Amino acid sequence: MTTAPRLEIRQISRSFDGRRVVDDVSLSIQPGQVTCLLGPSGCGKSTTLRIIAGVERQDSGEVLVDGQLISDGVHAVPPEGRGIGLMFQDFALFPHLSVMGNVAFGLSDKSKARARVEELLARVGMSRHIDRFPHELSGGEQQRVALARALAPRPHIMLMDEPFSGLDDRLRDDIRDETLAVLKAEETAVLLVTHEPGEAMRMADEIALMRDGRIVQRGAPYHIYNAPADRAAAAFFSDIN
Ligand code: ADP
Ligand code: MG
Repeated sequence: MTTAPRLEIRQISRSFDGRRVVDDVSLSIQPGQVTCLLGPSGCGKSTTLRIIAGVERQDSGEVLVDGQLISDGVHAVPPEGRGIGLMFQDFALFPHLSVMGNVAFGLSDKSKARARVEELLARVGMSRHIDRFPHELSGGEQQRVALARALAPRPHIMLMDEPFSGLDDRLRDDIRDETLAVLKAEETAVLLVTHEPGEAMRMADEIALMRDGRIVQRGAPYHIYNAPADRAAAAFFSDIN
């Protein structure tokens, strides 16, 4: 018996104003695996993520979690019922809540909240700052808290849309590595959207290269880097940083 992927999307399409911005996209991700959806700005990455999150509707295609159909475009489980965590670039912390309050926010069982918050803050190296407020934290520290907050309800799937682009260059690699370690420890299936080949090379188990709404190549980072599917893919990887 083979187990179903944690997340699977089948032949998802979406048009805006008669233009197909997501065109027949299929993907699957196993627990503990990071897939990077990589492609230039405007190629349809965020729309794909929003459809999986349930905040945008697909015209056709299916979304499955653990083999269960959660959306076929007509019938859909609402976003909050999908067991999916979200992290976006400007997904700000709640300014009026402490670090503790922010990370505990999505936890319904308040009696267990403290222990879970402490566990996660230890993982992201923020235990000392549990009583601080967002304005007392650096950008990198806020990002660590945001990660802890997204992971607190134990989502089986994390969707991350350019989550590191607001950070200083100096910080970014460290936060990427730390984030990856935490996601692996939690065995989360991750779909991370980025337009930076270097970020995908650093973080992905698998890269799905997207262009004009379509997945043009899928594979391990070294494979795509060494054997890009076509000239455009090669050019895209040539300005790696
Ligand atoms: P990416 O995240 O890869 O930069 P997006 O998925 O945000 O790309 O957008 C893909 C294309 O779809 C872009 O041309 C964008 O302008 C268009 N688009 C996205 N959302 C909408 C919308 N709600 N209405 C009209 N066009 C949209
Ligand atoms: Mg985007």
